[in-house]
Amino acid sequence: MTSHIMPTYGRLPVTFYKGEGAWLWDEQGERYLDTLSGIAVCNLGHAHPAVHTAICEQSKRLLHTSNIYGIAVQEQLASKLTEKSGMDNVFFCNSGAEANEAAIKLARKFGHQSGIENPAILVMEKSFHGRTLATLSATGNVKVQQGFAPLVEGFIRVPYNDINAISQALEQHKNIVAILVEPIQGEGGVNIPAQDYLSRIRELCDQYNILMMLDEIQTGIGRTGKFLAFQHTDIKPDVCTLAKALGNGVPIGACLARGIAAQTLTAGTHGSTFGGNPLACSAALAVLKTLEDDNLIDLATQKGNAICSALRDKLQNNEHVIDVRNKGLMIGIELDKPCAELVTMALHQHLLINVTNEKTIRLLPPLIINEQQIDQLVTTLSMIITEYTAQSL
Ligand SMILES: *Cc1c(COP(=O)(O)O)cnc(C)c1O
Repeated sequence: MTSHIMPTYGRLPVTFYKGEGAWLWDEQGERYLDTLSGIAVCNLGHAHPAVHTAICEQSKRLLHTSNIYGIAVQEQLASKLTEKSGMDNVFFCNSGAEANEAAIKLARKFGHQSGIENPAILVMEKSFHGRTLATLSATGNVKVQQGFAPLVEGFIRVPYNDINAISQALEQHKNIVAILVEPIQGEGGVNIPAQDYLSRIRELCDQYNILMMLDEIQTGIGRTGKFLAFQHTDIKPDVCTLAKALGNGVPIGACLARGIAAQTLTAGTHGSTFGGNPLACSAALAVLKTLEDDNLIDLATQKGNAICSALRDKLQNNEHVIDVRNKGLMIGIELDKPCAELVTMALHQHLLINVTNEKTIRLLPPLIINEQQIDQLVTTLSMIITEYTAQSL
C-alpha cells in the first residue's frame, strides 16, 4: 500500500496500538518494552491515569478559547512552573522548536534594546534545537541544514564543553547577545559536559551582560534526576525552554524567562493560537502533580544508576564498549563503531531503543520503569550488544 505521508522519517516496521506504563502493544498484540518514551516525551509512561483523567475532564468543559482571554489553567501551570524552576514567567507554545523560536526572538529583542543592531546568538557544535528555519540554523548538525540554505543569520558556533572557546568568541564578537546551550546534548550523543560548565557559562554571561539560555527540552521534567537539569548546579539561566515531557504526549512547549529577560517580549511581539490552551495545560498540570506525588524525580537517579551499573557489569569485558554514561534516566552507551543496526536487532527482541550520533545507544526510559523491566532491558540490551560487537569483528 502506498503511503500518503511525506517521507520525512525512516520508519521502523512496527505500528503500536496501545500502551500501559513502559509497555506498548503492536497491532498483532505483541508486547514491547519502551525504553525511549517517544524520545523523552512519555516520562510517566503510556496511558497514565492522571493524565488521562485530566484531559477527559478538561475536554468535557473547554478545549480552547484564545489567548485574548484569561485562561485559568494556563495561569496555574505558569505559577507551578515558575515556582519549581525559580524563573519569573512563561510563554506557552506547542513544541520544542517553537519554544526555542521564542527564546531566539527574545534574545534578538534584548539585543536591539541594548543598542546592538546585528545581534548574534552563540550556539554549540553537535547541538539540536529543532527543525524550523531559525532552530535548524542554530542546530550544530549539517545533515539537519542540508538543502535548506539560505539559513537564518545571527548564529556563531563553538565546540560543546569548551569554556575557552566561548570566552574567545565573546571577546571577538561584540554583537553576541545570548548563549543557547543544552545542559546535556541529547541528539548529539548524550554528551555530558564538565561539572562546572554551566556555572562558568553563567559567569561569562554576567561578565558580558548577555542572556544564558538553556534548551531543556530533552533534559527537563525530571529526566536527569532533577526537575530541570540546571538544578544539579546552583545557578539559574535567564531563559529556559521546555517541551517534550511537559504534556506526557499532549503537545505543549514553554519558554521560561527571568529578570530582564522576563520583561523583553511585550504585548504584540509574539503569539500562538494554540499555545497554552486549556487541554494542553491541564495535561501538564497533571504531569507535574504526578511527578511530585510519586517522587519520580529522585527515583530517576536511582533507576538510571542501577541500569548503568548493571550494564557496565555485563559489558565490562567488551572492548567495543567505550563508555556507559548517564544523568538520571538520560543514558548513553558509546561503542567504538557505528551501531544503528542495533535498533532493529532490539526491535526483534521487542525492545525499543535509539542510536544517536552514529555510535551512541540512547536510552530514555519512562520514569515509572520498574525493577523487572530494568532487568529485562539490561539482559536484552547487553545480549544484543555482545552479539553485534562479536559478529562484526
Ligand atoms: C526534541 C528537541 C527539540 C525540538 O523539539 P520539537 O518538539 O521536535 O520541535 C529541541 N531541542 C532539544 C534539545 C530537543 O531534544
